[in-house]
Amino acid sequence: MSERVVVIGAGESGTGAAILAKAKGYDVFVSDSSVIKDYYQQELDKRGIEWEQGAHTLSKVQNANLVIKSPGVPNNAPLIKEYVTRGIPVISEIEFAGRFTDAKMICITGSNGKTTTTSLIYHICKMAGLNVGLAGNIGSSLAWQVAENNHDYYIIELSSFQLDNMYDFKANVAVLMNITPDHLDRYDNCMQNYVDAKMRITRNQTVDDAFVFWNEDPIIQRELKKYGLKATLYPFSENNLKDVDLAAYTQDGKLFFTRPDDFNMEQESLALTGLHNLYNSMAAGISANIIGIRKETIRKALQTFKGVEHRLEYVKKVDGVDYINDSKATNVNSCWYALQSMRTKTVLILGGKDKGNDYSEIADLVRQKCTGLVFMGLHNEKLVDFFKDFGIPYVSTDALDKALDAARSMAKPGDTVLLSPCCASFDLFTSYEDRGRKFKDYVNNMK
Ligand code: ADP
Repeated sequence: MSERVVVIGAGESGTGAAILAKAKGYDVFVSDSSVIKDYYQQELDKRGIEWEQGAHTLSKVQNANLVIKSPGVPNNAPLIKEYVTRGIPVISEIEFAGRFTDAKMICITGSNGKTTTTSLIYHICKMAGLNVGLAGNIGSSLAWQVAENNHDYYIIELSSFQLDNMYDFKANVAVLMNITPDHLDRYDNCMQNYVDAKMRITRNQTVDDAFVFWNEDPIIQRELKKYGLKATLYPFSENNLKDVDLAAYTQDGKLFFTRPDDFNMEQESLALTGLHNLYNSMAAGISANIIGIRKETIRKALQTFKGVEHRLEYVKKVDGVDYINDSKATNVNSCWYALQSMRTKTVLILGGKDKGNDYSEIADLVRQKCTGLVFMGLHNEKLVDFFKDFGIPYVSTDALDKALDAARSMAKPGDTVLLSPCCASFDLFTSYEDRGRKFKDYVNNMK
């Protein structure tokens, strides 16, 4: 009898895992406690894969030899805890996929900048003409592509949840952008648990593999000392530090890449602006350099990248005021970078589902740059409490139209209205994409 694989959760990742398992001859069963989207139901049916939705039928999910868990299912879900108690291995889709391919894996994680950096690396690889797939949190499932495409390279965006259930997987190039508090609700409110999950990106790496990271991140530096990594290190910094063997740095308006190929480009010519995007461009350029892409291609790609929707996305000028959609800023640190990159006085729209936020991180920038604050959420008490004595006018709202009307009346010509919420969107919207699109629609219809 073939081994039985049970896949818990049937979104992009779970469906992909099931398709790969089936292709490799496993007896596969898919179980999702909520509704499975029609598209995924059809893809499973097409391949004769048995599935259920709305509940887990114990007799069907219990007899597993291997469990593949979708990143959305928490490790402390009762069913998952039971598997662990019974000694049944619970792994992620990425871990499973890694067992069936020899392709080069370039993996990106961090609290912020993952999607931008992943997209940038993919863009460079495409321009270089490589046979490359985009996978993980972004794009389609890695397992699905391993089953049905045959890419030589995969650029994989990994969340901490995906890293949680990785064991033997190895990244040939691991990129860690930064570590700041996020998702602590899923890590027993313990920062170290979250840090440990992020550091798992370096697991199993050898001296032939690369670890690319932001040199100035205090947590990464602390962890590096603890771990004694075997991987070859590729740190980057905006400063030319003499005592660190940097793989990229800036000096006198130029961005230098040092290894393996040594070249430079004008910082001004980078397509993406702002300090955070300088880091993202550095990480992407280093990764491309490591896998041997020519410097002319790297330069050109970093100069032509179009940016990603909902990340400091310019929407429109209305009455002399610029509107910017940064709906993807779902934690305080990403809002810090958004505010830091503002060149004008700013009316900031923030709020939503708070994930245990500490707003003191943005307090100084709010004082320097904000002429108005608009809170947009069902529970704004914490925001009001924190910002009420700043001497900056604020309005508390519970809907997007009210928030934008308030921001519009506060902003003066030459100002910017910035949606950079610091919070998840689920109190008022279905996702950050939904929040960003509704923001853009409303702004685009302003008369
Ligand atoms: P992620 O995929 O990690 O959420 P994104 O690339 O989608 O990151 O960017 C989300 C937001 O985080 C951006 O809108 C920006 O405000 C901020 N950001 C992007 N890159 C960085 C970075 N390197 N460091 C800090 N903040 C960043």
